Amino acid sequence: MRIRLEPATRSIRRSPLWVCLLITLALASCIPGSDEDPGTTASSAAASTDLNVSFSEAMAHRTRVVILGTGTPNADPERSGPAVAVVVDDQAFIFDAGPGVVRRAAKAARDLDIPALQAQNLNQVFITHLHSDHTLGLPDILLSPWVLDRPDRLKVVGPPGIDAMMGHIVMAYDADIDRRINGLEPRDANRDSYIPDVVETEGGVVYEDSDVRIEAIPVTHGDWSFSFAYKVTGPDRTIVISGDAAPSEPIVEACDGCDLLVHEIYSGERFVTRPPEWQAYHSVFHTSPEQLADIATRAGAQKLVLYHQLYWGTDDEGLVSEMRAAGWTGPLQSAVDLGVY
Ligand SMILES: [Zn+2]
Ligand SMILES: [Zn+2]
Repeated sequence: MRIRLEPATRSIRRSPLWVCLLITLALASCIPGSDEDPGTTASSAAASTDLNVSFSEAMAHRTRVVILGTGTPNADPERSGPAVAVVVDDQAFIFDAGPGVVRRAAKAARDLDIPALQAQNLNQVFITHLHSDHTLGLPDILLSPWVLDRPDRLKVVGPPGIDAMMGHIVMAYDADIDRRINGLEPRDANRDSYIPDVVETEGGVVYEDSDVRIEAIPVTHGDWSFSFAYKVTGPDRTIVISGDAAPSEPIVEACDGCDLLVHEIYSGERFVTRPPEWQAYHSVFHTSPEQLADIATRAGAQKLVLYHQLYWGTDDEGLVSEMRAAGWTGPLQSAVDLGVY
């Protein structure tokens, strides 16, 4: 993937031509937009993985996936908490709200030129399950865009328990909300937009308009009673996002030839180095490369994107190698934050 953001390309274009020519003679690399362009953090990291679709090709679709955070509970500063945006034209649907979600969305809006991800446009979020790494950003996505004049209330879809969680969040910030409404901040235009519109679901269709249909797909995630994958059927692409899942047959059925399967994974090679009690945990909560290769193959996924990766010391190349060794032969990328697929 070659994402060329304006600051990087602009700095090259600003160089006087003679400087460029001299350096070109010396290094044969000072050509605006050349393959040597280091691009951004996202492109640099993405460039090291298995690449089949360029940024511009992904952006050409009406239905695009923008990975806002690939992280896990591990506090990797390069990987924000799990959050995936599906952007259909000028509408953004956010799946999970890991820590950092609003700032990652703001960076995508600014650096990738996706206005739907500006803070004040973040008005719907779909939660896969109630684990803290997937929900710590809920106060952020509820309140930060409100303070920034989001006109709409935030629609929150999630499993049973999400209503209580949102209620507790509003209560926790009661003093702040009171001051922002009744203090000196001009808040008349959107004074009630801090109140979330919450829909609890046990699975099924949770959103539908003339272009987009979203289904919550119950999956297996250890001892959680409810954990969902989400299937987004857009005008030109169908996308399935696993959330956290042990191998789950409903994902195979939901994908059924889908254009993009965004699926969690842990390193099978590093799994064996984990303490036995953690091996027992991960084997019932998450998915190994062998299991994912089987799922994606039987699902007929047109492209597989790994996210929420548990590396335990390996890296994106390592996970890609493990997937190839496990038998997945289709298009494959190990996602980075702000990768577009
Ligand atoms: Zn989880
Ligand atoms: Zn998780």
